[in-house]
Amino acid sequence: MFWLRTELWTAEVVYTGFGTPMRRGALAVQGGRVVGQGPLEELQARFPQGEVVHKGKALFPKAVNAHTHLDLSLLPLYRGPFAGFIPHVLAHRALRGLEGAKQGLDELVRSGAGAFGDIVFKDEVMDFLLLESPLPGVAFYEVFAPNPLEAEAVFAEVRRKVEAWRKREGRVKVGLSPHSPYGVSAPLLRRLAEYARAEGIPLMVHAAESPEEVAFLKEGRGALAELLTRFGLGAFTPPGTTPIRHLHALGVLGPTTALVHGVQVDEEEAALLAQTGTKVVLCPRSNRNLEVGEAPLALYARYGVEVALGTDSRGSSPDLNVKNEALFLWDKADPRLLVRALSRGGYRALGLPTPRLTRGSPVDLVDSL
Ligand SMILES: [Zn+2]
Repeated sequence: MFWLRTELWTAEVVYTGFGTPMRRGALAVQGGRVVGQGPLEELQARFPQGEVVHKGKALFPKAVNAHTHLDLSLLPLYRGPFAGFIPHVLAHRALRGLEGAKQGLDELVRSGAGAFGDIVFKDEVMDFLLLESPLPGVAFYEVFAPNPLEAEAVFAEVRRKVEAWRKREGRVKVGLSPHSPYGVSAPLLRRLAEYARAEGIPLMVHAAESPEEVAFLKEGRGALAELLTRFGLGAFTPPGTTPIRHLHALGVLGPTTALVHGVQVDEEEAALLAQTGTKVVLCPRSNRNLEVGEAPLALYARYGVEVALGTDSRGSSPDLNVKNEALFLWDKADPRLLVRALSRGGYRALGLPTPRLTRGSPVDLVDSL
């Protein structure tokens, strides 16, 4: 009689993609497949011959990089005040595009990611991702149009493009990314949100990233105001409120919306995000490099806001490996929350199904930290 060797894989946190991440959990593995999951003691009783293998900090379904800008992968890394980042991107705009997106996608695949959310700035990058990506994901077409007088014309153009791309969806879905509450005028934000909701298109919006963004929206002053004037970007009217409240008033929040960064968020806003089912994608290393502060993880946990993790672009992040974001926060938050954010949180932020590690799952679905 031939017996397959059984290994019991264990780690500080084991997460199957459903239920609660386990502190002393394990996966029983035989012949390249998961054959059981549960507390380590339970699996040791079920598989007495099983050899316990320690896999490090965490085991979970393949990680999701829920926010990046692949087309910026050739940019030099910027570290410094937030207000310097937009000029940095503009100064290197010749490096932005398809070649960067190709290299970025390669890096993403090599990092072992299971899915991705990408902000797409150029049409050719959308075409490339729809046709060539080996990974599932959502390519969010970016809209930057702060002038309210352009709202209708921009909306018509965006809708035309998105309708054409959606006919070619396969592994990669098409989403929409109104850049931010300061990068898109109020009437256009409202229009894009209505359209996305009616058509079931996922939204991703940079929001509540820096203190400069809050000062600009509330009072129309500060470094961001100066920047938008300097680059001729703005007949923008500040709404006189915070980013999250502004987005809520325009109907942008909801279960198919993911906000990126969510650093400048107060308690009432965290409750609002939870009530509306809005997801938040955290990019902690980018936040550190742009000196914008730290996202209120404890507040999100208390209100049950679904959080995901993303690297942001190579312009503000040293690499595209999203697992490094979890490691960066490992001692600052409940590791179970971080492991959930790496996998289920990411899939949910993108509206994709979460793979489950259960009887019959191939081991190449298992990621580790
Ligand atoms: Zn971003």
